[in-house]
This record gives sequence, C-alpha cells and structure tokens, in this order.
Amino acid sequence: MINFIFNEVKKRIISLNKFIHTALFLFVKKKKLFVSEKESTRRIGICKSCPNFSSGMCNICGCLMAAKTKFYAAKCPDEKNPRW
Ligand code: SF4
Repeated sequence: MINFIFNEVKKRIISLNKFIHTALFLFVKKKKLFVSEKESTRRIGICKSCPNFSSGMCNICGCLMAAKTKFYAAKCPDEKNPRW
C-alpha cells in the first residue's frame, strides 16, 4: 500500500514538473500563458464528461482542472486517448 501511494505521488510530481517546464517554455517563446475563457470552458466541459474526472480533479495527473484548463501549455494527460 505504501508503495502504491509513493508511486502515485511520484507520478503526479513528475507530471506537474513537466507541466511547469512546458508552461514556462511556451510563455517565454510565445508570450502566452493562458487560453481564452471560451477555450477554458470548452476544456472543463470535456473533463466533466470524462471517466477520469472526479471531485474537480483529473485522476491521471492529479491536477485541479478548473485551474489547469486555463493554461495554454496544459494538455489532457491521457496518453491513449487525449480529449483536448
Ligand atoms: S483525462 Fe483528460 S479529459 Fe479526462 S479529466 Fe483528465 S484532463 Fe480531463
């Protein structure tokens, strides 16, 4: 059980680390940090109908989707079937 929790926390820290690096890279390169309100609303709408969405969070990356969907660099972390 401890190993499972450790691996989940590790996976989420790696995912957050990648996201922060990508967000900073794109912000420096393209001067874009956030998407439009319309795009953010579209993304969160897709998340709300996704089986990986629970209590406002994505079960794959562990992010709070109300915040993550606002970032230009953010992507759906589902590698097999990314929804946005
Ligand atoms: S897997 Fe993708 S669509 Fe589903 S909750 Fe996570 S970010 Fe949203």
